[in-house]
Amino acid sequence: MVTYRRRKVCRFCANAEIPIDYKHPEVLLNYITERGKIIPRRISGICAKHQRDVAREIKKSRTIALLPYTVTGR
Ligand SMILES: [Zn+2]
Repeated sequence: MVTYRRRKVCRFCANAEIPIDYKHPEVLLNYITERGKIIPRRISGICAKHQRDVAREIKKSRTIALLPYTVTGR
């Protein structure tokens, strides 16, 4: 049995204006933990499609060091 919780609409589907781009780390930062891990979709509430986009851009931005791989002792 599935109970309907409040259905969180994917933020990026709801607002197409939000850039998912490594050049916008302020957006991506909402989807990584304090330790720099990507927040799972169940928690972030974004759809599979955008989760993929976010993950890809996070990885990209890591490679150019805009975002940390992991943060130690913050
Ligand atoms: Zn979406």
